[in-house]
Amino acid sequence: MLIDIHNHVMPAEALGHLRGDPGYGVTIEGDQWAGGHHVPFTITPPFHDPAAKIAEMDRNGIGSAVVSCPPPLLRYDVSGERGASFCAVANDGMAKLCGGYPDRLRWLANLPMQDPPRAVQAYRAALRQGCVGAAIGTSIAGRRLDEPMFAEFWAAAAEAGRPVLVHPAFNQPHPGLDPYYLQNVIGNPLETTVMAERMICAGVFGRHPALRLVLLHGGGFLPYQAGRLAHANGRSVRCISIRSPTTWPHCGTWCSGWARTTCCWARTCRSTWRCGSRTWCWRMRSTSRSASRSARPTRPGCSA
Ligand SMILES: [Zn+2]
Repeated sequence: MLIDIHNHVMPAEALGHLRGDPGYGVTIEGDQWAGGHHVPFTITPPFHDPAAKIAEMDRNGIGSAVVSCPPPLLRYDVSGERGASFCAVANDGMAKLCGGYPDRLRWLANLPMQDPPRAVQAYRAALRQGCVGAAIGTSIAGRRLDEPMFAEFWAAAAEAGRPVLVHPAFNQPHPGLDPYYLQNVIGNPLETTVMAERMICAGVFGRHPALRLVLLHGGGFLPYQAGRLAHANGRSVRCISIRSPTTWPHCGTWCSGWARTTCCWARTCRSTWRCGSRTWCWRMRSTSRSASRSARPTRPGCSA
């Protein structure tokens, strides 16, 4: 069975919430989205109609999907209170949307990451509602995930034992990426790379070895730049929390890392996972055992 873990929904309840509160800075007229931190786009039925979502999955040969809110619904640019209010509505909507198709759809919690205590609270509430993990952005409206303010969230995420999907969002501006849609095709994997590398250098995985992340868009540039990125170790006094050069985690191996991650998800969804062409999954660890595995010759992606 093909299971898609990079699959987005915009629950009707969440869209209604945005329509009713101009404080979010979004205009939704009919099926047209404008405003927020995203270019205008059309909200097609599979975003909010579960029957249309299932029909779309059938057309694409997708057996099951783990759905999450897309970047326009990652509202880290509003107050923590407003963000928490929106996430509660979005999570209720995803639970309802998926509830009618328990064998086809599962969901990831949307969290007010701009306010970590509220994010932890929201995550625990969503876990009680049946989410199978969380989906967050690579940048929290400019704040980086390795910053100390997110420590309590990572502790809670590791304790929850569910993967955290990290999606490029609030990309840092880069003038060279302005034309040709490069902000998407280069900027997105670059954001993923910056996020993961900073987490490694800051020692987040060393403090939470059970933490599992899912890196979209091919894992950024980490897969084939791991050796180069490890060169940062010892080059900066800030990069001191890595236990030894051999612990540069770089996500274990492609396929063994994938297998461990998918085992976790599969237990939740009771399905067999298979890697889609768009998404590779990694488990990040900072143990020398993992590092030794990563030395094995492997090929990118999983075709099993
Ligand atoms: Zn996406």
